[in-house]
Amino acid sequence: MKLTDFFDTYEDYSELIEPKAVALAKEYRLVTKQVKQQFKYIATIKDEYLQHFMLRWFQLGTLYQRLLDIRKELKKIKFSYMLAQVQFKKKDPKEFKPLAIEQAKQIKVETILDEITKRVFHNTYLCPLHNEKSGSLKVYRNNNTWYCFGCCKGGSVIDLVMKHYDMSLSDAVTWLVGGLG
Ligand SMILES: [Zn+2]
Repeated sequence: MKLTDFFDTYEDYSELIEPKAVALAKEYRLVTKQVKQQFKYIATIKDEYLQHFMLRWFQLGTLYQRLLDIRKELKKIKFSYMLAQVQFKKKDPKEFKPLAIEQAKQIKVETILDEITKRVFHNTYLCPLHNEKSGSLKVYRNNNTWYCFGCCKGGSVIDLVMKHYDMSLSDAVTWLVGGLG
């Protein structure tokens, strides 16, 4: 993960109703600013002030870690928020169109996995469906599917959402299309 990836993300969290998300987004922006300042400052330190230099790097590391933590917390809030939206919405079965399934399937398996679990290798993840320390879940980009060699589950992006969030097909599709599409 590049540091620059963080800078312009999570600007839109103020739209979320959850006050905690708003507060975190605010802190995220503040810490990002501090990281940028630290970076700028470190660049000006001359070699002979090594101790000073190290201290600043240490501080930067702490700030950076906080950014990672905030990012994680925001992701959790965002997903539970989207989940709640789906669960509270009363759905008319007639409104559920097959087109939506096709639309949902356009969303990359990796987009979802990046949100709910950890990437171990470029197409390998820690399986979110069973407890593990090594990555058993592989993503097949050519047909946008996945398979876990640990728990022998796999399928489309819709299957992943259904299994991970214990959702019905209709809920999973609504969530995918409405939340991320
Ligand atoms: Zn698994």
